Amino acid sequence: MIGGGLAGTALAHHMAGAGIETTLIERFDLNTQASGSNSGSIHAQIPNEPFSVNGDDWTRTFAPTVRLMLASIALWKKAGEELGVDLEVDTPGGLVAARTQGELDGLRRKLVFEAEQGLEGHLLDRAELRAVAPYVSETMVGGAYYPVEGKANPLVAAPAYARAAAARGARILTRTPLTALEAMADGGFRVETSRGTILAARVVDCAGAEAGTVAAMVGLDLPIEAHPIQTSVTEPTAPLVKHLLYGAREKLTLKQNRLGNVLIGGGWDARRDARGRPVADMHSLVQNMRLAVDMVPDLASVDVVRTWAAVVNGTADWKPLLGEAPRVPGFFLCFFPWMGFTAGPVVARAIGDLVLGRVPEVDLGPFLISGR
Ligand SMILES: Cc1cc2nc3c(=O)[nH]c(=O)nc-3n(C[C@H](O)[C@H](O)[C@H](O)COP(=O)(O)OP(=O)(O)OC[C@H]3O[C@@H](n4cnc5c(N)ncnc54)[C@H](O)[C@@H]3O)c2cc1C
Repeated sequence: MIGGGLAGTALAHHMAGAGIETTLIERFDLNTQASGSNSGSIHAQIPNEPFSVNGDDWTRTFAPTVRLMLASIALWKKAGEELGVDLEVDTPGGLVAARTQGELDGLRRKLVFEAEQGLEGHLLDRAELRAVAPYVSETMVGGAYYPVEGKANPLVAAPAYARAAAARGARILTRTPLTALEAMADGGFRVETSRGTILAARVVDCAGAEAGTVAAMVGLDLPIEAHPIQTSVTEPTAPLVKHLLYGAREKLTLKQNRLGNVLIGGGWDARRDARGRPVADMHSLVQNMRLAVDMVPDLASVDVVRTWAAVVNGTADWKPLLGEAPRVPGFFLCFFPWMGFTAGPVVARAIGDLVLGRVPEVDLGPFLISGR
């Protein structure tokens, strides 16, 4: 597999567990890109921003991802024990706070789509929101509560999968960029790397924001995007933000980790420097912090200690690209945009099952690239 983020390491773990000779190549060190730089939110709900922008037709076609997210959360809950590592998985619930009656009406409509996919969610009026989350500004008119949502620690998850994969016999090559990929006429692939050639029966593209570049090497043109975005973290503070907290329409997510730091994000744009590296954008930072303090007034007295930027893998329609490429037998995509930290465990397992010729436990139907 190409890529040592969560998708690649979890897939390597699954494949090696099935007794398959497995090699993972990563151009840098493991977990140095999106999987190790994200905000650690474990989402299940339909994201609020595209829901409010794109309307019901989009929502209907996106909604089946909720089932993938729910299956992934179930795997997250077992993963720590399976890997023998505390992944700091904690699911106190997700809470979306609405500023206006219009936003609350939107949440009510979204809950209907989500319930059809088996996601439990509850609409809260102003008093109920205050009772559940007294730390949220009393100017909020209500909200929605999703008991299954929460957080995990992105710094430990992919390395834990990689160690467990190596223990099962997977070969993990870091600082080994893929330089060329050739589908051979009689089947299989020539995988050219900075350390030489590897012959592989099958290749799985787990290259995140670079997955389109890798796919292009075998002639595929996929609608994969790469966007620098940023997250901030505060100094440790006493327990304050109990839930994974969201704004209903604006870009805002908040959560507090085990050490007491509050992570503040929501997908605000970062910039690229002259060398193309992602760097934090001050304008985004100011707007993000303003929204955070507006939502949780007690944060006004807590200092932000760091803001970092990383490149997230995206698609314009937010839908994943999964499965075997129709015109390149043996070449698979394991690509989940925007929320691939949450979805990593389930898509890795499902794509692994496809590679092994097994029927995945989850329905990938709407997201198979063969159907595009
Ligand atoms: C700031 C930020 C916050 C986010 N917050 C959340 C969140 O709270 N919850 C959530 O669910 N998701 C979140 N995401 C999204 C999530 O992090 C990603 O969708 C997910 O990590 C993608 O995992 P991946 O393994 O597919 O990609 P990556 O983690 O990007 O891994 C891909 C790997 O492929 C390697 N690679 C690329 N090209 C080559 C090559 N030619 N040769 C060898 N290796 C190569 C890269 O170096 C990289 O290590 C966030 C993302 C960012 C950037």
